[in-house]
Amino acid sequence: MLLQVDRARCCGSGMCTLRAPAIFDQNEEDGTVILLQPQVRESDENLAAECVQNCPSGAISVVPGATFAKKPAAGNTESLRRRLRSAPTS
Ligand code: SF4
Repeated sequence: MLLQVDRARCCGSGMCTLRAPAIFDQNEEDGTVILLQPQVRESDENLAAECVQNCPSGAISVVPGATFAKKPAAGNTESLRRRLRSAPTS
């Protein structure tokens, strides 16, 4: 499962971050979602689907037709987290 987020739609409720902190984080400045793990591990797919369904603003979605070409690279989540926190929000 491949996820995408629309940060412009995100209202910063934090529900996804609370439910799946390995997949989502929030920008420290405005609370908008940061997608840490776009390619969701098979073991986390039900959790990710739950987050898609429960996002109050519809900001999280599954990329239609996406398949796993290869397993996502392991590790370096903290580096990605730092880069996304400093990225523009729109
Ligand atoms: S649940 Fe939706 S609205 Fe709330 S922080 Fe996550 S993406 Fe944003």
